[in-house]
Amino acid sequence: MTCVTVGDLEAWLREYAGLIRANKEALTQLDSAIGDADHGINMDRGMQAVVAALDGTEFAHVAKLFQKVGMTLVSTVGGAAGPLYGTYFLRFGTEAGDVAELTVAELGEALSAGLGGVVARGKPEPGDKTMFDAMAPATEAYNAAVAGGADLAAALRAALTAAEQGRDDTIPMLARKGRASYLGERSIGHQDPGATSTALLFAAAVAAMA
Ligand code: ADP
Ligand code: MG
Repeated sequence: MTCVTVGDLEAWLREYAGLIRANKEALTQLDSAIGDADHGINMDRGMQAVVAALDGTEFAHVAKLFQKVGMTLVSTVGGAAGPLYGTYFLRFGTEAGDVAELTVAELGEALSAGLGGVVARGKPEPGDKTMFDAMAPATEAYNAAVAGGADLAAALRAALTAAEQGRDDTIPMLARKGRASYLGERSIGHQDPGATSTALLFAAAVAAMA
């Protein structure tokens, strides 16, 4: 069975930093419509700090790598997204453990644990118009594909398709969490910034690991 190594996971994180950089203005634009116009700036600051941490350290184990990533995001990203993505990666790493590689199924368990971290931290429910609305369907699609016998590439592609659909599905939603919820009905008709950065996380996974 194909395995995902620490190196593959580092490549995923570097790819994500690159996609966040490339979409920095677009993410901030989305956040200017229903938030405070800082999501692209926040995520870019955090992921550049992650890249700096990767450049400076050799990570032997998945848990250590993601502990560093999570702590870096929590400490460098202000606002809601820092603690949420930080918790995501911390839980991902704890679930993965002190191992040098993950099976395709174990990667799914780590993705589920990360999602559980976001739920514990932000208490998002389906349809609240948050990153959860892209992350939950993507994680479910990945695990369903693996359960159905899909290989890593096919499972990651299924996750990306679901993440992008989930992101698009946030447009008609009324925001019930975070700053966008202050807008009430006026949040309807706008794509959620966090769901958009989550779709990029799965796009990065496909680019780096599929
Ligand atoms: P802030 O809202 O503090 O400025 P960001 O702009 O960086 O932080 O991130 C906003 C994104 O965070 C939203 O688009 C949404 O996806 C996500 N978010 C906000 N609150 C929650 C929550 N309670 N649970 C899950 N996601 C949330
Ligand atoms: Mg914001």
